[in-house]
Amino acid sequence: NMYLDRIKQLDDQIGSYLSICEDNAILQAQEAQKLIDSGNSSALCGIPLSIKDNICIEGTKTTCASKMLEDFTAPYTATAVDKLIAHNAVILGKTNLDEFAMGGSTENSAFKITKNPFDLDRVPGGSSGGSAASVAASLALGSLGSDTGGSVRQPASFCGVVGMKPTYGLVSRYGLIAFASSFDQIGPIAKTVEDCAIILDSIAGYDSKDGTSLSYKNPSSYSSSVSEDIDIKNLKIGLPKEYLTDGLNSEVRASLYNSIASLEKLGAKIEEFSMPSLKYAIQAYYLMSSAEASSNLSRYDGVKYGYRADKCKNYQDLLGRSRAEGFGKEVKRRILLGTYALASGYYDAYYKKALKLRTLISKGFEDAFTKYDIILHPTAPETAFKLGQNTNDPLTMYLADIYTVAVNIAGLPSISVPSGYDTNGLPIGLSFTGKPLGEHEIFKAAAAFE
Ligand code: GLN
Repeated sequence: NMYLDRIKQLDDQIGSYLSICEDNAILQAQEAQKLIDSGNSSALCGIPLSIKDNICIEGTKTTCASKMLEDFTAPYTATAVDKLIAHNAVILGKTNLDEFAMGGSTENSAFKITKNPFDLDRVPGGSSGGSAASVAASLALGSLGSDTGGSVRQPASFCGVVGMKPTYGLVSRYGLIAFASSFDQIGPIAKTVEDCAIILDSIAGYDSKDGTSLSYKNPSSYSSSVSEDIDIKNLKIGLPKEYLTDGLNSEVRASLYNSIASLEKLGAKIEEFSMPSLKYAIQAYYLMSSAEASSNLSRYDGVKYGYRADKCKNYQDLLGRSRAEGFGKEVKRRILLGTYALASGYYDAYYKKALKLRTLISKGFEDAFTKYDIILHPTAPETAFKLGQNTNDPLTMYLADIYTVAVNIAGLPSISVPSGYDTNGLPIGLSFTGKPLGEHEIFKAAAAFE
């Protein structure tokens, strides 16, 4: 009730939620209370969480912040949410995002703008900006976001909270509305590393309903990795030189070096190394993710799902106008870019080259992990920017994803933790990236640093 009241009082200013599941939340809370009273509760029992509105919950609206799905009610629940409910978490509502998770500021939502709780004139980051803002403003204790190229970690960093992207395949994508299927992963956002680990413990695991789900037996819980006395003495950490470019804001750079000093004090050994393929990560990511998006979003044809244009003359008119009216500008840009890249005459020149880069980048990380346990980097080159500042400049928005996208290209786990503030009082984030299924290592390092 306290969280529902806070949402009613404060969310008009922040704009983190698109819908509230009040009745269900109260029922779930009452159920949880019974378990707590009978001494049968587990870590997530009764914990109020928010869910990004591209993750389905049966019987509730799932809009992807798009006019296309404005009236879409999900007919089933995503596996990740099912698991949270099975652990007796309380689902408060669905949070705002960039339309179909395409963007880095949550300004691409068809319905509202979410503001950064640290400064209401600034963006919360994106695309899971509603999720990160809801946690930062204590309108939820934790949240699920989705991360295709940084959408959990970058908003977490802009809002001063922790965001974690699991190894590709660790968390089921069943019920997560697809953007770029070979990159998409659901991940937790919370106030602490331990809270993220507790949520991941609940949502991770094989799911036969997701063809890319990993069958991996976790030897111990993620939360057990962070709750002991953590020793990171002699942990070998690599810092990619390619990330230390002029585009890195001086305050974020200074914070990175402060963080390095703290990690060294804890006994970690940090060394710069070179991974030349990282220079092409943004280009490869935007090409491949748009190609996948153009294919995934072809299902919105005005017939099977969502928005349908009025008074259509024939099928072509229905298809064309439903898509023209239902999708926003950024989504259309990605569909056009992706369709172009996949067209037969251009396939070899663009898509195939991007796939080769994907192999090179994955191989680069593989080599780096023969020398280092963890790779360290800033989460974003700058702190939260002003609302409207980049809305007419998609290229600047894309380039700001420089530190997050390579992780998705290679399917690696990565966690962003708050590492300080700039002179405007805005939070800065630091990322720890691990080898495939190296969640325990990154949780440990992040918790020791936190
Ligand atoms: N900002 C990136 C993009 O717009 C990442 C989005 C995401 O991770 N969903 O593609």
